[in-house]
Amino acid sequence: MKRPFVTKAQLDKIAETYPTPFHLYDEKGIRENARNLCRAFSWNPGFKEYFAVKATPNPTILKILREEGCGADCSSLTELMLAEKCGFQGSEIMFSSNNTLAEEYQLADRLGAVINLDDLTHVDFLEESIGHIPETIFCRYNPGGVFTLGESKEGFQVMDTPGDAKYGMTRPQLAEAFRRLAAKGAKHFGIHAFLASNTISNDYYPALAAILFQLAVELKSETGCHIQYINLSGGIGIPYRPDQEANNIAVIGEGVRRSYEEILVPAGMGDVRLCGELGRFMLGPYGCLVTKVLHFKHIYKEYVGVDACAADLMRPAVYGAYHHITVAGREDAPHDHQYDVTGALCENCDKFAVDRMLPEIRRGDLLVIHDTGAHGHSMGYNYNGKLRSAELLLREDGSVRLIRRAETPEDYFATVIWS
Ligand SMILES: *Cc1c(COP(=O)(O)O)cnc(C)c1O
Repeated sequence: MKRPFVTKAQLDKIAETYPTPFHLYDEKGIRENARNLCRAFSWNPGFKEYFAVKATPNPTILKILREEGCGADCSSLTELMLAEKCGFQGSEIMFSSNNTLAEEYQLADRLGAVINLDDLTHVDFLEESIGHIPETIFCRYNPGGVFTLGESKEGFQVMDTPGDAKYGMTRPQLAEAFRRLAAKGAKHFGIHAFLASNTISNDYYPALAAILFQLAVELKSETGCHIQYINLSGGIGIPYRPDQEANNIAVIGEGVRRSYEEILVPAGMGDVRLCGELGRFMLGPYGCLVTKVLHFKHIYKEYVGVDACAADLMRPAVYGAYHHITVAGREDAPHDHQYDVTGALCENCDKFAVDRMLPEIRRGDLLVIHDTGAHGHSMGYNYNGKLRSAELLLREDGSVRLIRRAETPEDYFATVIWS
């Protein structure tokens, strides 16, 4: 059973001050989870999680994570600017971009961020852009093919297709990049790879780590480069569905430690520092979208119309992603009614749920759409002239703070050139 981190009484009170729809984040959950992650990797001196800013680019959230020891993983000019404004400095910023602009490398360099190159051609492009090659530099690896992990009854437990992904370098390109970078003055190297997304498995990070550790040993002997960092990137998932079991970060950390001791330590590479760029795992479960029921429609199916739409949360519309929904105050009522829960966009994909069994819904009910803390508000857009919702923080003392106001029509018109 999935339960919201707020009660109906709390939500009713919040909704008196802040009109629905809004995204609400749980500070306590965010902090506890970040601490558990750091504890799980505390065996590796120098471990650092660089939170993937794109998942939840809110300054208050970023500052909370910074207080918990996290850095910021950025991939665009404005994300770099945001990280700087939130107080992240120098190597607290990782710049993992692709198809990068010269201005972006220039700002990353000015901030002293760690630059992670996505392609071999960017060795020269980076040098042209900033006039030198930094002493510390990362390169992103793409092994190609299909990445699979263990078999379960339903098929592979984790499967993704790096061979179809635009990111990273091939194995020969990676060695070539290291050689060229070393020739241009780089001294400390990192490798990075992101092979599968939203993995509900304690085996993904350890499997990825084993691949990268082995690669690091090989690259060191092939190129002579000092590999000091291994970036396991994002990809640890969360249980969006109520029947899925959450990953156990302590087990994941222990699995990575085992590979480290088996592969890196015997190769004399026990000084390698690990990093992560988790987004979804850090924030996903600690945010929800709260929306009010406006209308019912009975045609060939039963529709519930709510005041949020795909502009507030586009994952269901774009990926057909499942987000659990509970009716505030009736979490335990029998789920004996079947509904499509829809927003107001003139797009039939604007549905938060299709054929979902829920308790009987009444006009004015507050629906909690779960697990929107990452890739939720941040993916919002203004299609159909819809305005993005506010973001609120439920603090550890139970009080609520507005951490981003809702957009207004003035925001929508701000970029227009009237003729
Ligand atoms: C999106 C992204 C992440 C975070 O991915 P999650 O699935 O949210 O963990 C990390 N690194 C890079 C380079 C990304 O693009």
